[in-house]
Amino acid sequence: METLTIVGASLAGLSAARAARAQGFEGRLVVIGDEPHRPYDRPPLSKDFLLGQITAEDLSLETDTDSLDAEWLLGAEAVSFDAATRTVRLRDGRSVASDGVVIATGARARQLPELADVENVHTLRTLDDAARLGPELIAGRRLLVVGAGFIGAEVASSAASRGLEVTVLDTKPVPFAAQLGAEMGSVVAALQSAHGIELVPSATVDGFVTSRRRVTAVRLAGGRIIATDLVVVGIGAEPNTEWLQGSGLELQPGVVCDAMGRTGTPGVVAVGDCAAWFDETTGTHRLSSHWTGALERAALAVEALLDEEAPQRQHKPHYFWSDVHGVKLQFAGHAEGHDRVEIEAGDPSEHSFLAVYYRGDAPIAVLGMNQPRLFAKRRRSIVPATLAGAAALS
Ligand SMILES: Cc1cc2nc3c(=O)[nH]c(=O)nc-3n(C[C@H](O)[C@H](O)[C@H](O)COP(=O)(O)OP(=O)(O)OC[C@H]3O[C@@H](n4cnc5c(N)ncnc54)[C@H](O)[C@@H]3O)c2cc1C
Repeated sequence: METLTIVGASLAGLSAARAARAQGFEGRLVVIGDEPHRPYDRPPLSKDFLLGQITAEDLSLETDTDSLDAEWLLGAEAVSFDAATRTVRLRDGRSVASDGVVIATGARARQLPELADVENVHTLRTLDDAARLGPELIAGRRLLVVGAGFIGAEVASSAASRGLEVTVLDTKPVPFAAQLGAEMGSVVAALQSAHGIELVPSATVDGFVTSRRRVTAVRLAGGRIIATDLVVVGIGAEPNTEWLQGSGLELQPGVVCDAMGRTGTPGVVAVGDCAAWFDETTGTHRLSSHWTGALERAALAVEALLDEEAPQRQHKPHYFWSDVHGVKLQFAGHAEGHDRVEIEAGDPSEHSFLAVYYRGDAPIAVLGMNQPRLFAKRRRSIVPATLAGAAALS
């Protein structure tokens, strides 16, 4: 392999570049990114950066020891891909043909189309988004967060600690039930309420009231009207794969890959938030959308790219963390299909505990709140859900 191109210059892309050099690739390495910035870390955007505790420079993902000898094409958007010749075409007319391609274009924040041209409405995915939102978080203002996912919860937490009055709309009866199950989702909801967040469950938006291109209130089905000064839309992310339409790669909408990131087209792998890797625990392709997956899986994808015969490796269980209201939440495994949750240490009402999710006798997931040491230990005992399913049937 003489030329290796990585599309997406963020966590997964940088990790893939490091992995390529670490695994002995000595050829031409090209990294293409549409943002003007060098790779930076996103998790702090909704936490320390929004709180004004760190600067953009602190977000850098690169270190002094990185010697990647890469060509960085930044501010360069890939607009199409010819998988047969592995040629990436850029919006500015340039094209890069390669022997190997790593697709690492991540995801973008989902928008509410009806609020597209409204000034006081924000999403949070990029450094530029955070730089726009931060100065708007002024004590005494009212913030409406549409969507009760983790990014919405973190923005709500940061805003509340900066003295805003925060309301969070959730379409579901219990927040985080999809990720944590209803029982533990309620624990997070209680934490939010304890910090003065008003969580509105089962909310259906009837419409937004706007004046001079600003949202002034939201109208809910049932008639309630909630006045606001600022809106953050936190309704999830969608993978950046439009540029791959027509390339022949299977999109679902994430790039469909095997359990090592291979796309089915030789010489092309995908990793990070844009990729739907085969998940042996569920037997489906699924987006991972979390930091640790983007970091750790890049080495596997590069291994599969540099050596087509590379044997299948077992992944670590799915893992993510969040920081809300001063509490570190950590979760590993998948909660789907659990039949009970056992508290092994601590007390949920004090937001310091370790909970293990079981299917039959098998521990399939673990949740820790402010218990990093116990969590790290217990995480190793997680059993993939497929094995747990087999054990439950036998
Ligand atoms: C505010 C925030 C807080 C988060 N907090 C946590 C957390 O606490 N815990 C956790 O586990 N995860 C968290 N995450 C998720 C984590 O940051 C992501 O999983 C991780 O950034 C994924 O890395 P990635 O490189 O796959 O994608 P991204 O970071 O999305 O990077 C993809 C890059 O590719 C670029 N790109 C897209 N399309 C093109 C194109 N056509 N041409 C060229 N370049 C393109 C994008 O602009 C971007 O720079 C958070 C995310 C956000 C936004």
